[in-house]
Amino acid sequence: MRRIIPTLFLIAAAFTPLALAAEMDEVKITPVKVTAQIYMLTGQGGNLGAFIGADGTFLIDDQFAPLTEKIVAALTTVGGTQPKFLINTHYHGDHTGGNENLGGAGTLIFSHHNVRERLSAGSFLKEFNMKAAAMSKAGLPVVTFSDDISFHLNGDSVQAIHVPHAHTDGDSVIYFKAANVIHAGDILFNGFYPFIDVSHGGSVKGMIKAADMLLSLADDSTKIIPGHGPLADKAQLAAFRQMLATAYERLRALKEEGKTAAEAVAAKPLADLEATWGDGLFTGDRWIEIVYPGVY
Ligand SMILES: [Zn+2]
Repeated sequence: MRRIIPTLFLIAAAFTPLALAAEMDEVKITPVKVTAQIYMLTGQGGNLGAFIGADGTFLIDDQFAPLTEKIVAALTTVGGTQPKFLINTHYHGDHTGGNENLGGAGTLIFSHHNVRERLSAGSFLKEFNMKAAAMSKAGLPVVTFSDDISFHLNGDSVQAIHVPHAHTDGDSVIYFKAANVIHAGDILFNGFYPFIDVSHGGSVKGMIKAADMLLSLADDSTKIIPGHGPLADKAQLAAFRQMLATAYERLRALKEEGKTAAEAVAAKPLADLEATWGDGLFTGDRWIEIVYPGVY
């Protein structure tokens, strides 16, 4: 079992913060150096990205509220500060849980329009039986965009690009041009079947398209921070994309035959993929149940 299992459990923490505050005490935030100025930080929940320089600390995602102090402390150990800017790659609680803390302390928050809408309204994820309350004003993105937005700081141009109907309906991927680094948000779960939030606009086809777009930006030396899992390269992203395409083709065929999700699971269409992709977040059977409504 990989460490993603406790992560899954702790996704729930975003939705019931008091119950799991104690577990959060155990979490360590670890910076992983990507370039001289860019770090991936791991703790619990989605991997963070941080861009550090004289113009200010730029943070990508913020895990869970009880971790904010530790995240800021970890940033200072690598030369960063309280983030000047934060971008949310999507609305899920394991990527936005620290928004109220950071926004309340003066960090300017950016996201795709739909992220702000979902955070303002609150949400329910039936796959995990988890409810998220509406976020208070302090945590809501102040600047929202539709297709893309660019940041010019710390000697680089950093572009956030919206990828439609992929993991959710509001995903952005972040591309550091000069540094040749990508933060893929939850477009990439490196090494295992991804959660796809079909009831909030996600789809397998959109995930494949988004992966293709990222592959077009990347070369063999691009470093890719995945939403979940270890730091990746283009070959690992390509393998993930290939898995999605294979699964899509087989599930699509079952759908065209009129099979229900239960019948699709019973047909074991992903049996040969299980050893490689099914020992992380979901088994193949569970993954089919989750994504089948989003195969079209
Ligand atoms: Zn997510």
